[in-house]
Amino acid sequence: MTPALALERLMLHPSYDRFVQRARQIAPVALLDQADAAATDAHRIIADVAVRLSDNPARPTTAGDLPGWLRLSLLDTLTAFADGWATTCRHNPAADRPSPVVGAAWKPHMVVCPTCVHLLSLRHDAAADAVCDGCGHQCAGPEHGDGIYPGMVQLGPLLYQYGTCGGCRPDAAGSGTLSATEAAEQGTPRGTGRVTPRGSRGRSRGKGRQR
Ligand SMILES: [Zn+2]
Ligand SMILES: [Zn+2]
Repeated sequence: MTPALALERLMLHPSYDRFVQRARQIAPVALLDQADAAATDAHRIIADVAVRLSDNPARPTTAGDLPGWLRLSLLDTLTAFADGWATTCRHNPAADRPSPVVGAAWKPHMVVCPTCVHLLSLRHDAAADAVCDGCGHQCAGPEHGDGIYPGMVQLGPLLYQYGTCGGCRPDAAGSGTLSATEAAEQGTPRGTGRVTPRGSRGRSRGKGRQR
């Protein structure tokens, strides 16, 4: 079983919340504080993205509320990052130094800091930019009523972007520790200048800070 599958099984278990509480009790306080701060920062970013994408607040959700493809894709990248073999930006984010990081369903195993989202860009690949991350459908474009709906889900410090066709849009809402947001309109510019720059999926335009 891969680490992602093991983690998925754990997160879908009815006792998962109790497990997390117990793990928090025995975790080193300093690391826990750092991890909580990173998660809070990441939540601030998704809350900002939610307003820009959909005018709706980011909603709490649980792993079980996400479609299987999105949950496994997210966990696969998260466990690669935790294991230390994910591709990262030159700022070298690492799981043992918790801070907000960004990944994308269309770039598996790549995790970057919020200032390096251009590395997730599909700007030069319009064909890939039109592919649904859920089913692989090549969307004809919003002008044909067949555009990509961008979305983002947050788990701890990780902000995870995806784009879907109309049929694969997750209907994620619940009461868990994850947060999710989706665009209301197909072909909506993706997110903010800081995390999902305007224009296209992961496109680096607008107010993106560069270091
Ligand atoms: Zn970076
Ligand atoms: Zn689809």
